[in-house]
Amino acid sequence: MVNIVLFGKPGAGKGTQAEFLKEQYNLTHLSTGDIFRFNIKNGTELGLWAKTFIDKGDLVPDEVTIKMLEDAVENAGNTAGFLFDGFPRTIAQAEALDAFLQSKGWSVTATIALEADDEILVQRLLERGKTSGRPDDQDEEKIRNRYQEYNEKTAPLMSFYEQQNKFYPVDGIGSIAEITKRLSAVIDNFVN
Ligand code: ADP
Repeated sequence: MVNIVLFGKPGAGKGTQAEFLKEQYNLTHLSTGDIFRFNIKNGTELGLWAKTFIDKGDLVPDEVTIKMLEDAVENAGNTAGFLFDGFPRTIAQAEALDAFLQSKGWSVTATIALEADDEILVQRLLERGKTSGRPDDQDEEKIRNRYQEYNEKTAPLMSFYEQQNKFYPVDGIGSIAEITKRLSAVIDNFVN
């Protein structure tokens, strides 16, 4: 099992890159943001509840997010591995993921961070908001709140994974294809 965690600030291009990487390496792509939006679209109880956090640019509380991710892994069926996109986003989530994977005899293989400057990313999100219909992309204040959430809760994950020698930063500025190449160069170290 190859379990890759993709992380980066909102707008860094995780979802875009995940689409290419999942094909290239035959991985199951799990995006917690996508799962929440699927639930919102379908008006599920989880979706309606999560929406109250997401629309403000806040993180959804850990307990529910962790359970949702574990269910998604359980339901994925046979796979060569996972590409986790947008999870974990807090230390509690990272610890839960380690424990959960360990219970299956698996582990996080590598964590790759897509790095880009905040100001470039805010502009990208505002641009995306014009077409994505995502309320959290349309208001600069909510976008700034997502960066604050990232800096407070998600940035500490870098040292969490660095301590395990599993952290690989990648420059997230360039063409989509160039960035896919940079990410593949890291993943190639772990697949045959
Ligand atoms: P982005 O990276 O552009 O912010 P995502 O689609 O990954 O977008 O996430 C959208 C929103 O969904 C987040 O702002 C947050 O409210 C919620 N969310 C996604 N993943 C998590 C998570 N692991 N923990 C808590 N909230 C999450």
